[in-house]
Amino acid sequence: MTHIDLRSDTVTQPTSGMREAMLTAPTGDDVYGEDPTVRLLEQTLASQLGLEAGPFVPSGTMSNLLALMAHCERGDEYIAGQQSHVYKYEAGGGAVLGSIQPQPVEMEADGTLDLDRVAAAIKPDDFHFARTRLLALENTMHGKVLPLEYLEAARAFTRERGLALHLDGARLFNAVVKLGCQAQDISRHFDSVSVCLSKGLGAPVGSVLCGDEELIAKARRLRKMVGGGMRQAGVLAAAGLYALENQVQRLARDHERALAIAEGLMSLGYPVEPVQTNMVYVQIGDRAGALKAFCAERGVLLTAAPRLRLVTHLDVRAEHVDPVVETFAAFAKA
Ligand SMILES: *Cc1c(COP(=O)(O)O)cnc(C)c1O
Repeated sequence: MTHIDLRSDTVTQPTSGMREAMLTAPTGDDVYGEDPTVRLLEQTLASQLGLEAGPFVPSGTMSNLLALMAHCERGDEYIAGQQSHVYKYEAGGGAVLGSIQPQPVEMEADGTLDLDRVAAAIKPDDFHFARTRLLALENTMHGKVLPLEYLEAARAFTRERGLALHLDGARLFNAVVKLGCQAQDISRHFDSVSVCLSKGLGAPVGSVLCGDEELIAKARRLRKMVGGGMRQAGVLAAAGLYALENQVQRLARDHERALAIAEGLMSLGYPVEPVQTNMVYVQIGDRAGALKAFCAERGVLLTAAPRLRLVTHLDVRAEHVDPVVETFAAFAKA
């Protein structure tokens, strides 16, 4: 039975071209700064983002953690969305390892954080309070692309309030492809940007944190501290480079397939949220567990949740759309 795995875009297998690139990558000891492939990856991505080179790290979680700890000191505070990855899904790393207090704020329907709400959460300069230092945004956020005008407003706002601005751009390139813009059109508004190579881009491992030289010097020290200094990591970086060269534009196909699945489910009467990139959200309520089991028996894998998330990626092919929709149709009748 073929499996159609819609749980996440992290489940992709390295493509044969990617495996070939990994096999032939020149390597060196990256803790000594001597791995040419890691350096090339860091420089390639940083230059695409218009930022100075950032460290290649094993995961997006580590990348965000280094950003928090590089921007904030002990007793400082960062503001992020209530549903943001950095706040909700990273084991409280900023608090545990950096003694940095999170201040979550409720998100808007379009994935932005209302700047008035953010302003209200900023602490006055008074010894009762943690020092608010950083605003962290996420793009895409639940598959939604933050509008460029919003990013501009967020930049102006953070400048005015003396906050740094970090982007969790785990799926930055989904936003880039959706908008048909350059990565810099998004990244230029931020002090630091974290990009995951292991989501839709299809690499097995890795993220890069980009920022200016001073921030990155701090981040490199922190990476060593938390155990993220890797040696002949060029075999992994080669996969990331290959993804940047060959697997960015194809994200458009993931978006098309997500839209096709969404339209199919909508025509069956499922309440589906508007799709922008590679995520389909369906309000499935308390039938989530039953749906998951039903689908699994038919080779369609998903994560049960009342607000169900279906994610397309390079191993979800055009011919998979119909079987997915048919499975949901069968479930509706069952
Ligand atoms: C996956 C993800 C991360 C973390 O990446 P890992 O490599 O899984 O640690 C961070 N932010 C967002 C938005 C993500 O989707």
